[in-house]
Amino acid sequence: MAEAPPTVLVFAGSDPTGGAGATADALTLASLGCHPAIVVTAVTAQDTTGIKQFNCMETELVIAQARAVLEDMPVAAFKLGMLGNSQIAAAVSSILEDYPDIPLIVDPVQNSGRGDVLAEDMLDDALRSLIIPQATLITPNSLEARRLAPDADTLDACAQKLMSLGCEYVLITGTHENTPQVIHRLYGNKRQLETFEFERLPGGYHGSGCTLASACAGSLAHGLDPVNAVGEALQYTWETLKHAYRSGMGQNLPNRLYWAWEMDKPESDSET
Ligand code: PLP
Repeated sequence: MAEAPPTVLVFAGSDPTGGAGATADALTLASLGCHPAIVVTAVTAQDTTGIKQFNCMETELVIAQARAVLEDMPVAAFKLGMLGNSQIAAAVSSILEDYPDIPLIVDPVQNSGRGDVLAEDMLDDALRSLIIPQATLITPNSLEARRLAPDADTLDACAQKLMSLGCEYVLITGTHENTPQVIHRLYGNKRQLETFEFERLPGGYHGSGCTLASACAGSLAHGLDPVNAVGEALQYTWETLKHAYRSGMGQNLPNRLYWAWEMDKPESDSET
């Protein structure tokens, strides 16, 4: 019998394209040698050009899914993506309170990268008061960071505000900033710990934020310390974008299994 890999329990919306949400999380975690256990919070109808509609799960069903997994297998990390509404956010928060020692990675998503809405009501208050105080790491993009800390006038100040709510580490991603290179900033212990610079890749990608937060969760589940976990996750995510493919009419899809495809290439291909 093989040894079980670390399980990451994910709360996510489904995306039928397989680009974002639950499938993105599952592919990322499997690629990083973790077992993805996925609690579905919402079902979306979307394609690679945009969200058409979505329905949130009954809150009781979200709780039942999570309890079923938690009572059956050890969980090495939690990852939160689309929560869908503040009732679900409150229910998830009360489940998390029972597991204060398990790392919690939060992608505070309320809109897609293209601006489509992914929440039935305003989640800002629930995120600030219930979820962020329990988080080990939150991974807002710069727009989400400004939205969650509206009184802060710089990204540094946003990070300070978010840490003051109780989360240990804040990774503010820089894709939406107007800089030649993409600059991601990691904060912890009330200060900036590290910046990570990456070549800006052309085009749009569907599910990059889900990939990054899941990769952080996978690396933490493997026991990496937070600074290294974030560094590895950012590098992995960049590689998935570098090797992205386009299967629909809209955004490119990150290739979470790029390394397996490389391994499959005949040797003559890799030499050219
Ligand atoms: N659909 C679901 C279910 C998601 O969770 C997310 C992001 O978290 C998205 C769509 C949007 O992904 P993107 O902004 O990368 O297009």
